[in-house]
Amino acid sequence: MRVHACPVRFYYERNEPLAESDRYAVCKQLSYHLGTPLDAEAVWNEVSSVKPGIDTALREYLDLCVASCTRQEWKVALETDVRVVSEKHGIAGMIDRVTGDGAFSVIRATGALPMGTYSADRLRVAALALCLEEMTGRDVAGGTIEHIPDGIARYHDVQPRDRRQVLTSLHKYHAIMDGRLPEPPLNAPCNRCRYKDRCASSTGRRLSELL
Ligand code: SF4
Repeated sequence: MRVHACPVRFYYERNEPLAESDRYAVCKQLSYHLGTPLDAEAVWNEVSSVKPGIDTALREYLDLCVASCTRQEWKVALETDVRVVSEKHGIAGMIDRVTGDGAFSVIRATGALPMGTYSADRLRVAALALCLEEMTGRDVAGGTIEHIPDGIARYHDVQPRDRRQVLTSLHKYHAIMDGRLPEPPLNAPCNRCRYKDRCASSTGRRLSELL
């Protein structure tokens, strides 16, 4: 999904390991308890075992997450951290929570949009649906994104355009891993990007080609 956000940034960072944020570690650990009474102290004990040395300021963040999630009803997971693969498309991923017959959810350490779903999350759900369909031989209509900080579970019905974007991102991914530098997209999220200077010259080239 990082390819979708900006393939150029993904190209620059393709060999950097992904570090899990402390906030994600908190949300992820809380997610194992969704559907049962949430005990912040018990969750924090687990978090500090999983991530020893985590900033204790995150304890307050956990309290906020617990307060938000306590206001909602959640389904208990039948399985957690289920690895799924699609050999046809050469992709693999992890489903955070399987909550029913074919129903699944992914958890996020970010708040939800007022309405709708972030494009990266749409693609994440679509890619997981593609894998699940191949593994089970059944259609998968969509999946749920569980925003832990504000306690919002939002179902996304996968659309053909989501599936198309997954396939397009895959093509770009393979080209990048073959060493090809992609063009900066016209709607790239360049504000506050650390590669702005590096991209400035190629963006100029791109505009001159277009105009
Ligand atoms: S400056 Fe813009 S085009 Fe370049 S890597 Fe960053 S987001 Fe992508």
